[in-house]
Amino acid sequence: MKCALITGGSRGIGRAICIKMAELGYHVLINYKGNEAAAQETLEAVKAKGSTGELLQFNVGDAAEVQQVLGSWVENNKEQQIEVLVNNAGIREDSLMFWMTDTQWNNVLNISLNGFYHVTKQVLNGMLLKRYGRIINMVSLSGIKGLPGQTNYSAAKAGVIGATKALAQEVAKRGVTVNAIAPGFIKTDMTAALNEKELAAQVPMNRFGTAEEVADAVAFFVSRSAGYITGEVLNINGGLHT
Ligand code: NAP
Repeated sequence: MKCALITGGSRGIGRAICIKMAELGYHVLINYKGNEAAAQETLEAVKAKGSTGELLQFNVGDAAEVQQVLGSWVENNKEQQIEVLVNNAGIREDSLMFWMTDTQWNNVLNISLNGFYHVTKQVLNGMLLKRYGRIINMVSLSGIKGLPGQTNYSAAKAGVIGATKALAQEVAKRGVTVNAIAPGFIKTDMTAALNEKELAAQVPMNRFGTAEEVADAVAFFVSRSAGYITGEVLNINGGLHT
């Protein structure tokens, strides 16, 4: 059985990616941190597409938890292959640098950047052995351009972009591609508190993007058609920044 692991699959962009992977016929491993009800809803949506899936609860920023839950899954499911990994889990805790607390800095770096490291470490070996894999990292316009009030988030996402490019070169010979997707404003819980009308006016397309539009880009990187693309960062931002 071919599996796709999506971190932060319970809500928002991650949920849309889980549903898209189900459409592509993958057994979907839906990771979440704490919102089990939302994760269950994602699982139902996966099944409604005629596919299968299961929930994997762990905090991507907690190395021991990732080892315990994901490491055990890998160990106990040796006949199954995680072919697709989408490192999507992320949070933002915005503050101007002047006011930022150590906790805000560490939380955001830990989940996005260390989370990428902890989860990818568990999955990479299987891909290298099978000589096939697709790793897609969810970054952000903030990690490319830098956004005021987000030094923690911009640093975390820029760090993942660097790691994407480095890892892509390490594993290219083994048939594993590593790419990143950098959304602008996407309508999810993460952006729910923002002034959508005011911010959308800054976007050339005059609107926020949808989680499904991001999932479509993931599907492209997952496809065999994208086999010669690696170390790339794809912007999805309605023309906000190129
Ligand atoms: P969201 O609606 O806030 O959903 C966040 C998801 O991440 C949830 O499934 C949540 O699980 C999970 N999560 C959070 N912390 C976690 C942890 N420590 N371990 C495991 N899972 C964790 O966010 P979103 O808007 O879909 O964003 C998804 C990704 O896209 C993030 O990396 C974000 O930085 C990036 N992004 C978003 C936008 C945007 O405009 N929305 C723009 C650029 C980039 P629970 O449900 O259990 O809490």
